[in-house]
Amino acid sequence: MHIAKPAGRAEGLEAYQGPKLPHTLPEIFIQQAMANDDERLWVPNGDRIWSRPLCYNTSQGYWVHLSRYRRPGVITRHRHPGPVHGFVLKGRWHYLEHDWMAEAGSYVYEPPGDIHTLVVPEGVDEAITLFHNTSCIINCDPAGNVTGFVDVFTRIELARKHFEAVGLGADYVKQFIR
Ligand code: FE
Repeated sequence: MHIAKPAGRAEGLEAYQGPKLPHTLPEIFIQQAMANDDERLWVPNGDRIWSRPLCYNTSQGYWVHLSRYRRPGVITRHRHPGPVHGFVLKGRWHYLEHDWMAEAGSYVYEPPGDIHTLVVPEGVDEAITLFHNTSCIINCDPAGNVTGFVDVFTRIELARKHFEAVGLGADYVKQFIR
């Protein structure tokens, strides 16, 4: 649900007067993207791991989502062929391969080629991070052997099936696709 703007708010303020530019896609607006009021919006993605879709871009091959972890230990180990931007909103986590601890307020850029193992430390009930992932995530074992992959299309399919299963309907995912 959207919060309506106060009446008269636009008085004295000038909006753009021209026509909408051709080929412009509709915006995506989510009033409270971190809200836990509707658990169905969080797509299960492993043991106490969820992904909440914000934007799935199929023409440029990226996706923006909230990753939520509710258990300590290894969450994922993977290699990135494309860049990642992350901004931590809640909790803490770190990569075994790097010497820093990400916490609420931290920003991270993961360069193409980086291979890392994400760990949530003991004592963290919940960690939520906004990730902008490009291309795909290649899951691997400690030796670097490929064990699977995730891209915007597998994300869409996972969300589609989840939304269908929880009663929102498979087409619910379409609002996030651009
Ligand atoms: Fe990563």
